[in-house]
Amino acid sequence: MFQHAVGLSVEAEIISRGTWTAGYALVAESYGRGRILLGGDAVHLFTPAGGLGYNTAVDDAVNLGWKLAAALKGVAAPAILETYEHERRPIAVRNTGFARQFAESIGLYKPQPCLEDDTAEGQAIRKEAGAYLASHGKAEFNIPGTTFGARYDGSPVIFSEQTVQVEDLPNAYAPTAAPGGRAPHFWIDSSTSLYDLFGFEWTLLRLGKTPPSVDHFILAAAQLGMELTIVNCTLPEVQQLYEAPLALIRPDQIVAWRGSNDADARRVIETVLGHQMPRLEKIAS
Ligand SMILES: Cc1cc2nc3c(=O)[nH]c(=O)nc-3n(C[C@H](O)[C@H](O)[C@H](O)COP(=O)(O)OP(=O)(O)OC[C@H]3O[C@@H](n4cnc5c(N)ncnc54)[C@H](O)[C@@H]3O)c2cc1C
Repeated sequence: MFQHAVGLSVEAEIISRGTWTAGYALVAESYGRGRILLGGDAVHLFTPAGGLGYNTAVDDAVNLGWKLAAALKGVAAPAILETYEHERRPIAVRNTGFARQFAESIGLYKPQPCLEDDTAEGQAIRKEAGAYLASHGKAEFNIPGTTFGARYDGSPVIFSEQTVQVEDLPNAYAPTAAPGGRAPHFWIDSSTSLYDLFGFEWTLLRLGKTPPSVDHFILAAAQLGMELTIVNCTLPEVQQLYEAPLALIRPDQIVAWRGSNDADARRVIETVLGHQMPRLEKIAS
């Protein structure tokens, strides 16, 4: 099979081989129970199209990591761990679905019988097949929407805005600071990203030339043990990008809340740390 695939008689020693089944798009019914939490391939198996398996696994760990740390430190309510499955399982369903589509668009491609004929018709068919496969390759691996556009709308620890509708397209990513998605990136100067200014834990962006006070956030964060970095940025482009003068960003760089003043700071912080959470229903796919 190896010689056949290479197309030449190449000297090779097979030192290991294993069977592998393509075409999986499986998501576990549950991401854990009690003190046992699962992530990565243990809960979602991909057909490896689009390079999504490991990305999804890493994002699970990023989502769970800060919540575990915050719950163990007593900063977040233990119930925040329930939001791990609530936020991440729909993303696994979404991402395995994209991967399956990509796999099918190539796996179900049927080359025409005279593809290899040394004729003008064969040449035309090869050209057509080449164009199809090239466009497939571009679509499969240029997927910023899938990678950056995952959203946790409806999570009980996110202040979702009902008015915001973000189209979920694999090949296009439109940054938005609507709570529930990745904080939009901005180059502050040629070597500094806005992300470089974020704290290791929570970040409160204070944007614009005359930003509102954040004293209530500082006080509530201190009272609840939240490590909060305040980032002041006067660039008008950043305020335009975030469409608000204040934005609270989680340790996993997801916008949890945005607004125009700090009047509700205590409730905001209690909510994003899971202190005001209702019991979550398991989500069926
Ligand atoms: C052919 C192929 C191509 C891929 N290409 C890509 C790609 O381009 N991009 C991408 O993002 N993803 C890709 N993936 C998917 C990616 O490899 C997986 O999604 C990723 O490795 C999952 O990481 P994980 O840590 O969850 O699981 P794993 O990497 O499987 O790690 C689990 C580990 O646990 C160990 N283990 C199992 N049982 C036990 C036990 N009882 N005790 C102790 N240890 C145990 C295993 O040996 C293993 O080391 C590809 C996968 C395949 C098969």
